[in-house]
Amino acid sequence: MKIKSAVFDVSAPDLSSCPRSSLPEFAFIGRSNVGKSSLINMLSERRELAKVSVTPGKTRLLNFFLINGAWRLVDLPGYGYARVAQTQRREFNEAVAAYLEGRKTLSRVFVLIDSRLPPQRIDLEFVQWLAGVATPFALVFTKLDKSGAAQAAENIAAFKRAIAPLCPEPPPAFTTSSKTRLGRTELLAFIGESLTPAR
Ligand code: GDP
Repeated sequence: MKIKSAVFDVSAPDLSSCPRSSLPEFAFIGRSNVGKSSLINMLSERRELAKVSVTPGKTRLLNFFLINGAWRLVDLPGYGYARVAQTQRREFNEAVAAYLEGRKTLSRVFVLIDSRLPPQRIDLEFVQWLAGVATPFALVFTKLDKSGAAQAAENIAAFKRAIAPLCPEPPPAFTTSSKTRLGRTELLAFIGESLTPAR
């Protein structure tokens, strides 16, 4: 898929403020610093696109971008900010939970995982929650250019093993680098195929 246009659409503080639309949505989420902004910029080829999401006051909002006038890319707030020891409190915000559980036009959520790290509890818990609410998701391993290839492969395999008991069907998985653009073609092709399902 070629990206012909990518424009900021709207920021929403909650599910009811999300754009009224029948366009399919593809959302991106991950721990803060996982490389989400870099990936969104790499995919859209707009260096400044995800900057909108980090402007003051917008980091806790759901940020919508219109791509090719045909689908929406949704930049969700990162999780892992509000860690509260000894509580059951969700480590991502209520608006995100409501969106992921209830958004009719959500086609797929891409969960970003840092390939440099062994499986992290917070990522595993998030995937467990997502599998529980039956939202379609895919894994996107980031920063493949950084750690040694063998280390990254080991971390990725360990993550897949860890979530296997949670997922009856293994989710699609992509390996990416915003530096080398690894995975860009594959991710965009995957989105493209979801837009025009094979008959
Ligand atoms: P966000 O907080 O998830 O939006 O993460 P950012 O996109 O801001 O990236 C966090 C840090 O990781 C920044 O210093 C980026 O330059 C770096 N980074 C992000 N993606 C990559 C990547 O693919 N390769 C390398 N080497 N660094 C990356």
